[in-house]
Parts: sequence; C-alpha cells; structure tokens
Amino acid sequence: MKTIAFIAALLLLSTIACKKETTFTNNPDADDLHNKAVGFSANQLLSAGTYKSLKIEIQYVTGYAPDAAALNHLQNVLSSYLNKPSGITIVTKEISTPVPTVLSIDQVKSLEEENRTVFTTGDQIGVYFLYTNGSFTDDKVLGAAFRNTSMVLFGKKIHENSGGLGQPSRTKLEATVLEHEFGHILGLVDIGSPMQTNHKDPAHGNHCSNTNCLMYYAAETTDILGFLVTGNIPSLDANCAADLQANGGK
Ligand SMILES: [Zn+2]
Ligand SMILES: [Zn+2]
Repeated sequence: MKTIAFIAALLLLSTIACKKETTFTNNPDADDLHNKAVGFSANQLLSAGTYKSLKIEIQYVTGYAPDAAALNHLQNVLSSYLNKPSGITIVTKEISTPVPTVLSIDQVKSLEEENRTVFTTGDQIGVYFLYTNGSFTDDKVLGAAFRNTSMVLFGKKIHENSGGLGQPSRTKLEATVLEHEFGHILGLVDIGSPMQTNHKDPAHGNHCSNTNCLMYYAAETTDILGFLVTGNIPSLDANCAADLQANGGK
C-alpha cells in the first residue's frame, strides 16, 4: 500500500512539474506566470500591490485591426476599475501569417504561444488579446478568455455582425466583447473575485444574472446583437463592480 501511495505521489508531482513548464517560446523570462487559469491574476490586475502598470498587447490578423474608438473605450473603462498608478497602455501588432478560419481554443493557445511579445515583467503586468480573422468552433461565440492574461476575439463573427444596415456599430460590438472578456480575467463572475452578493447566473457558468450587465452571458455571443442595435455598450452592474472593489479594484 505504501509503495502504491508513493508511486501515486511521484506521478502527481511529475504531473504538476509538467504543468508548470512554460509553453511560450517568445517569453524571455520563461516563467509560468502567463499559463494559469482565467481569474488567477484578478487581484494582480485590480490592485497596485504587485503591478503598478498594465500593458495590453492586441495582435490582429491582417484586415482585422481593432476599432480605435473601441480601444479607447476599453482603456477608459479599465482606468475606472483598476489601480494602476503608472498607467494603462495598449499596443497593437499585425500578424501576417495565415491563420485557420475556424479555431479551437487549443489552436488559439498555439497562436498566442508563437506570437505574443508582451509579458509580465518588473512591476508591469502584461495582457494579451488575439483578434483573429476566423470564428470559433461554437459559431455563436464572439470572444473568449482562455488564460489568466489571455483573450481572443473572433473577428469573422464580429465583422459579419456589425457596421452594416440594422446592425450595431463596430465600435459598440468590439468594445462590448473586449470589456466582457477582460471582466473574466478580472475574476468575474466568481472566478477569482469572490462574490460579495450572490449574482451568478446558474444557467451560464461564470456570468452575471443581470440581463443589463456587461457580464451577462449574452455579451460574448451573437445573442447580444439585438440589444446593441439601440442599446449602449453595457457596463458592470453594482454587484460586479462590488466584487472588483473588494478584490483590490477601485
Ligand atoms: Zn463570458
Ligand atoms: Zn453583473
């Protein structure tokens, strides 16, 4: 029995050791800071305790440059919740190599590992968005958060569903998806920023139950489109804002 327990412990240890290895070929520090679960860095992003500034890298496939007004909106919203006394900056970079038009999360992760250049270093925390030309394997999805500092926007779906007659503007749809995904890496809902009041939507995982809130599940799917035609970019409701505040945010 003891031998079996020992072998089991060894196996467990080696599994943990494997998971700790970084897969980011572009990370000069070669640490595992960027390979944690969504919500793991919520407090690091919200508070000024460890990181005084935030640098966001948005890499986009040719033809999918992010909307400037949407980025401006994202920056303003983040400034109102994040304690980053040395500032929040956004840099964009084009990826010109061909990217598959339907992507799984594993493929998205590989693209990040090959291309990301902004990492957490010193007192600056780094965050990454991939803006792909394609769609997700689930066709309704507009974006996703997939690591503690990593998110993706599915450009094909966003372009098809915004900017045309009877559609929401590109700015509104992009800002909504960018900010919703960022909300997830800030620990919403109940994934890293503990709920101060129960407001989790039991039917939709880590999302808010308030249909008008940025963290309502629809904000990252095509279900949001009708709302956005006449409505404004959703903001965080009082419950979501309280969770961020309690976890080091403003
Ligand atoms: Zn979501
Ligand atoms: Zn909410």
